[in-house]
Amino acid sequence: MSNNEYAGLYVHVPFCRTKCPYCDFYSATDLSLVSCWLEGLQKEICLYEDRFVTFDTLYLGGGTPTLLNDHELTTLMDCLFHHFSFSPDTEITIEANPDDITLGKVKFFRETGINRISLGVQSLDDNELRFLQRRHTALQAEKALEWIRDSGFANVGVDLMYGFPGQTESGWVQTMKRSLDFRPEHLSCYQMTFEERTAFGKMLAEGRIRAMEKDKEREFFLFTSSFLETNGYIHYEISNYARGLKYTSRHNCKYWRHVPYLGLGPSAHSFQGGERWWNTRSIDSYCQALGEGKLPVGGTESLSAEQHRLEMLYLGFRTREGIDCGFFHNQPQWEGILKDLHESKLVKIQGGRVIPTREGFLVADGLPLLFPD
Ligand code: SF4
Repeated sequence: MSNNEYAGLYVHVPFCRTKCPYCDFYSATDLSLVSCWLEGLQKEICLYEDRFVTFDTLYLGGGTPTLLNDHELTTLMDCLFHHFSFSPDTEITIEANPDDITLGKVKFFRETGINRISLGVQSLDDNELRFLQRRHTALQAEKALEWIRDSGFANVGVDLMYGFPGQTESGWVQTMKRSLDFRPEHLSCYQMTFEERTAFGKMLAEGRIRAMEKDKEREFFLFTSSFLETNGYIHYEISNYARGLKYTSRHNCKYWRHVPYLGLGPSAHSFQGGERWWNTRSIDSYCQALGEGKLPVGGTESLSAEQHRLEMLYLGFRTREGIDCGFFHNQPQWEGILKDLHESKLVKIQGGRVIPTREGFLVADGLPLLFPD
């Protein structure tokens, strides 16, 4: 665990205009609740005022933070900067939906201090966008990227999705190529998963849609990694690529390194001093708790030494930073397992660290279980 790094701050904006059928993030479509949420959030900020010293990342995620109007966003940012301390070079990210973006809106984001945008493009094929029930077209997403660049943003991320039913490799290549025309500093390429409580998850269970075959998913993953690395991107985490190390998501890296973070808003998670806690998901109970002067915490857990060890492995095998070799010297039998993984080319040893290869990323979730206590 790093004790020297500043903590990260996450704010969950739990609203979307419509619900995408694959999405499992907590959000509501009743926008009349925005004012109650914002009022609650300001109270939550006050309650945490002295708990974290300084942040060097602020991530406005959701949900859809870009559906907040200028007044709501200003209120939120003013409150955060009034009650919390931030380092001068804080990375401030907003997740954006293409259908919310106008040139005026992105210029306003810059005025509020936001210096990084992560745009939820998902696909640049209109048929695929219709299947995903996105609210924007490919052209709208490209126009949004143009405006983001025109307004001077120098740190832009594009979120894409692959591996959904019926998607072809050529369609996926076109989406990646057209995204690369905008030279995004960061790309997230998420493989579609079918979570039970989503509309797609239910359709899958009822046999109304079929998931991509495992072999094909694997091919898409390997192809994506090799295509983007050939185009100058570092594959630094299973789903994430950066056009140079300085463009890795500083905020998300904190989650993978066990650095403390505070999450505000319904369903947000926090971590500090080996303790993890998470807020209640429902906006109503979130607002009610804060109205009574209480933190809206829905659950807590203290990481045991064993949980911490497993998480170190789980998180380390997901990133190109990997795991310190010293970690494996604790148990003599682990060295043999490590040797096997190395010989199978699932990991490489570099600079005193065990680093997953591209093939290693494919099986990253299973690797920690190979190292029993
Ligand atoms: S993908 Fe984004 S816009 Fe769609 S429901 Fe999820 S959070 Fe909302």
